[in-house]
Amino acid sequence: GVFFDITRTARLELIRQEFLSSVSHELRTPLTSILAFVETLETGALDDPESSRRFLSIIRKNASRMHGLIDDILELTAIEGGNVHLRPTHVELAPLVDEAISALDAKAQARGIRVTNQVPPNAGVYADARRLERMLTNLIDNGIKFNRPNGHVRIRHESAARDKIIVEDDGEGIPQHHLERLFERFYRVDRSRSSDMGGTGLGLAIVKHLTLLHGGEVTVASEPRKGTAFTIHLPHQPS
Ligand code: ADP
Repeated sequence: GVFFDITRTARLELIRQEFLSSVSHELRTPLTSILAFVETLETGALDDPESSRRFLSIIRKNASRMHGLIDDILELTAIEGGNVHLRPTHVELAPLVDEAISALDAKAQARGIRVTNQVPPNAGVYADARRLERMLTNLIDNGIKFNRPNGHVRIRHESAARDKIIVEDDGEGIPQHHLERLFERFYRVDRSRSSDMGGTGLGLAIVKHLTLLHGGEVTVASEPRKGTAFTIHLPHQPS
């Protein structure tokens, strides 16, 4: 006889359905807004150049949100489907952090946030460089987005039983009761704030899955109005 574990299959099916329904909902919101503004343009607003420009910029913002969402969904499903294969090597951390910072430089400047790389020049970790940069980018991006004017984001490294890469900010912080669910797909503390910032709600889920693939984990400590620190823990290079 052949036995199938139906409970596991049923559970996976439920998770898949919930995910599909969240994705549809997330795509629907910007799409509804795009359709509404196109309609407004068609029914007369085109004749007013100033409103036209404003509506086009809203349409662009929503379209790029959908674009970002689809990219993140593809990335997450590839990781979860076991289709992402890491190529870990010895990586010099400081230059990688510099690259992630410069990619977000315009955003940080626009919001008046200072981002500093405090990783010592000799620090190295064992990781897939491209994936690690993606994790750092997601965390630094959040540190910039959920900050206050003249806020500060710092990236540090500590070596203990595992390598620790810490991304900490002195921004708005996260109330304790949200922390447990923070890494779930589409979980946000403040949905409308996340959308205003162009967020997809998938950034932390991607960080979590990528650190797990590295045999590590990501943790968070936060205090409202004081700030938040995310720590990526990575195993040392096997000898
Ligand atoms: P998003 O696209 O909304 O940034 P994430 O998965 O990256 O999605 O983050 C989920 C939520 O966690 C955010 O919407 C925000 O509420 C909260 N969050 C993440 N990072 C920070 C941070 N550094 N400070 C405060 N809140 C944060």
